[in-house]
Amino acid sequence: MVSREAREENTVINIRGISIGGEGVVVMAGPCAVESREQLLTAARQVKAAGGHVLRGGAFKPRTSPYSFQGMEEEGLKLLKEASEETGLPTVTEVIDEHSLQLAHDYVDIIQIGARNMQNFRLLRAAGQTDKIILLKRGLSATIEEWLMSAEYIMSEGNGKIILCERGIRTFETYTRNTLDLSAVPLVKRLSHLPVIVDPSHATGDRQLVVPMSLAAAAGGADGLIVEMHPEPSKALCDGAQSLHPGELVGLIAKLTKMMPAI
Ligand code: PEP
Ligand code: MN
Repeated sequence: MVSREAREENTVINIRGISIGGEGVVVMAGPCAVESREQLLTAARQVKAAGGHVLRGGAFKPRTSPYSFQGMEEEGLKLLKEASEETGLPTVTEVIDEHSLQLAHDYVDIIQIGARNMQNFRLLRAAGQTDKIILLKRGLSATIEEWLMSAEYIMSEGNGKIILCERGIRTFETYTRNTLDLSAVPLVKRLSHLPVIVDPSHATGDRQLVVPMSLAAAAGGADGLIVEMHPEPSKALCDGAQSLHPGELVGLIAKLTKMMPAI
């Protein structure tokens, strides 16, 4: 169902006046994690002022260590809703199981299934039974075939509102957090009618690489970007090294707008 054979024309996903998969590049931005009311509202205002289209913020964090900050959970979801009401920005947040999916449903516009859960088939099916837009990230070591099959799990349950996100894959290289597979963008767009976006933050783990990789993704036909930005990256509880400073997000969007038609 996700293939080009099943549907020839591109799927365009509309959310509160923004279309993803049509003309232009949608910019989703915000902190890795919701950390406090002040942090999130500040970040949301900065994303809005920079010209971003969607606010990101994790309330349930799938951390490598069980001792790392795990997210504010429902409190974080409430803050995302408040930030959205204030700025008008739609929101995206990650869910990590069926419980967090149920909770997030009423608070955010887009539900993210992260790289680590790309093959959590029960979660995929549960997401397919909702009416929400699902942002499906590519797994850490997933082939394109496996990634598309995971999208198929969602769509086969009746939900076709899926955005695919390339976020880098694990290779032998250690200088970057992952290896951004940019060729996946035009390739997946050939194989599937679904929108494809790129996460240059988790792909590289390095803020200095985020702007060049964002521009490369846009040049390669990506329908959007999801980038981490923190009001004060050095104080971030999570992923500060790859988070843009607010001014850098302004610069990125200015460069993108020069390059691409406005959405
Ligand atoms: C995230 O977007 O915060 C995240 C954890 O991403 P990924 O699943 O791509 O690692
Ligand atoms: Mn992160």
